[in-house]
Amino acid sequence: MTTITAEIEEPPSERPPASTFRERIWEVLKPTQEQWDDWKWHFRNRFNTVDKLARVMPLTEMQRKQLQLVSGKYPFSITPYYLSLVRKDDPTDPILAQSLPSFDELLHAEITQEDPLHEKDDSPVVGLVHRYPDRALFVITDICPLLCRHCTRKREWDGGWWIRQKPQLEAGIAYLRRTPAIRDVIISGGDPLTVDNDGLEWILQQLRSIPHLEMIRFGTRFPVVLPQRIDEGFTRICDKYGPIWLNTHFNHPNEVTPEAGRAVRELLRAGVPVNNQTVLLRGINDTVETQLKLSHELLKNRVRPYYLFHADEVRGTEHLRTPVETGIKIIEGMRGHTSGLGVPTFVVDVPGGGGKIPLQPNYVLSWTEDEMMLRNYAGRIFHYRNPRPAKAKQLPVVVAA
Ligand SMILES: *Cc1c(COP(=O)(O)O)cnc(C)c1O
Repeated sequence: MTTITAEIEEPPSERPPASTFRERIWEVLKPTQEQWDDWKWHFRNRFNTVDKLARVMPLTEMQRKQLQLVSGKYPFSITPYYLSLVRKDDPTDPILAQSLPSFDELLHAEITQEDPLHEKDDSPVVGLVHRYPDRALFVITDICPLLCRHCTRKREWDGGWWIRQKPQLEAGIAYLRRTPAIRDVIISGGDPLTVDNDGLEWILQQLRSIPHLEMIRFGTRFPVVLPQRIDEGFTRICDKYGPIWLNTHFNHPNEVTPEAGRAVRELLRAGVPVNNQTVLLRGINDTVETQLKLSHELLKNRVRPYYLFHADEVRGTEHLRTPVETGIKIIEGMRGHTSGLGVPTFVVDVPGGGGKIPLQPNYVLSWTEDEMMLRNYAGRIFHYRNPRPAKAKQLPVVVAA
């Protein structure tokens, strides 16, 4: 008699390849498991100097010099967890490309945009960006555990690291309170989850006391770069002051690890829907294949791909930007070819405070009052009748009884 169990194969490991930096980091930093599971330990031990990095990563003299030079202008910070995902001996590793300074950051001096998204102009009070009619961005800190090389707010990296103090937070909250048009507030940064749970609870409590605020969202990359942060205290306050939404920022399938999966599971358990905002990055995730894989990994974890952003025009990031067409081609390669739930909206956030503008592949070949000629995902052409409302009928006269 055959048993069924013999036929069940082990599912393929979800872990990044075994040849990662993980063992090396453990050898050097010697954390206990308890420390490794503690986000504050990672924060304290983040790699932010060339000397610290050289302890776990072989660097040539030339690389050291370049790192010193670039980080003099654009500093770096990489959590032990995130660095542990880097594959050994792969100079094109997508984790490294997002976190390790590159000499290219000093090129392209022609890009002079200081505040390409005009966030300062759209701020009625310090720290609050009110650009769209019914929603606002609340910037509560400029600290991040990991400094993404493609950061939109790279210009602010030399501003000294701060967490907004109560008087300024109160001014933002007062603005939200007296502006009933705002029904959706996004708590952002920096990374807002660098603020501890007590601080976040105070903010959530204040925001929840504003009756017209229907939605509160967090914009945070912690589930990706330091998933240990999603602890019991955090999910408890999300549950208590919910409904809360959370948007995170996975850029590559190698980031979707068991640890990140656990963080997402805990959030979902606390009733927090998790959506993903990816930035399209040259050499990192600029192919249909990588984006499909990322979407599938996210969907397996019940994370919904929300936006695919064209990388903003920011000084020090030009080498990571692709032509706009790359994004449109990626969407074209996804739509219809995979679950619709896995297809993000591709958007360009235009300089000058215009906000996010969605860009789509063109499926409309011609369009008249009577008919549209449409193309489907596979290139087949269809005629679709365009209904016109019939002429208004004479209403029957109702005679009162
Ligand atoms: C992106 C953004 C929002 C939120 O936009 P959604 O399309 O609702 O996700 C709100 N305010 C600002 C300033 C933004 O940049």
